[in-house]
Amino acid sequence: MTLVDLQNFAQLHPALAALSVGAVGACVGSFLNVCIHRLPKGESIVTPGSRCACGQPIPFWYNIPLFGWLFLRGRAHCCAARISVRYPLVELVTALLFIAAWTFLPPAKAAVACVYLPLLVLLAGCDLDDMMVPDAPNFALVGTGVILAMLVPSVHGETANSIEAVNRFRALMDALLGVAVGTALVWWIRTIGSVLAGREAMGEADIILCAGVGAFCGWQGAVFCLFGGSIVGVVTALPGLIQAKIKGEEYVGVVPFVPSMAIAGAIWFFRGPELVMLWRNWAAS
Ligand SMILES: [Zn+2]
Repeated sequence: MTLVDLQNFAQLHPALAALSVGAVGACVGSFLNVCIHRLPKGESIVTPGSRCACGQPIPFWYNIPLFGWLFLRGRAHCCAARISVRYPLVELVTALLFIAAWTFLPPAKAAVACVYLPLLVLLAGCDLDDMMVPDAPNFALVGTGVILAMLVPSVHGETANSIEAVNRFRALMDALLGVAVGTALVWWIRTIGSVLAGREAMGEADIILCAGVGAFCGWQGAVFCLFGGSIVGVVTALPGLIQAKIKGEEYVGVVPFVPSMAIAGAIWFFRGPELVMLWRNWAAS
């Protein structure tokens, strides 16, 4: 089967093609679950094979993305322990992101999305799971962003120059500028915020994440990642804030910054330039 065969197949059966892409996404999500579970603990993501919390190995048919959990109705086969809804959720979100990338992005950008989006899901998952974002995937986000900019300059909108090397160089500069702006921006906000609040306002993980989004999306993406992410964060924390206010208690929850920034970073990757246009039109009217 050649690439052309694949394209023909996709055109003839768009729903089936999207479903296949979603299945691949679900499998990637299944692997992300392993990473989210093990990376913050410093464990190997390769060995040992899947094990239940009770120590029993899990046969592969119960590990089939989404369906394994549904089939087991969220309980382990060996010891009936509850399996967190996080597992199918990560698989579902990754599957949907793959389908969205396949459907809405040009092929080259969709391929880059298959690296970028899973890393965002992984970082958000680690943060939600135990408030601990491992450095390795975070730095991987920055590194792959810079490398992929050179390999696929069209992701940074660099297609105009007839000399391919110029496109690659410009895309690389765009990515590096994104890293620089993302790093500097969060560092300043963090420093000022820490002085004002009298405690650590943001973590180092936030700085690296914002730099990574900058590497994939350019400096505008990094800016959106921080400020758009703040809005997402406040909106998600709002129910808890209001509840605490009504009860007259002090709000003890934390704003989930890494997942919020990841969401903003993903939104920008899909529809960044259109968002700028919307904003300009709105500001001009
Ligand atoms: Zn068990």
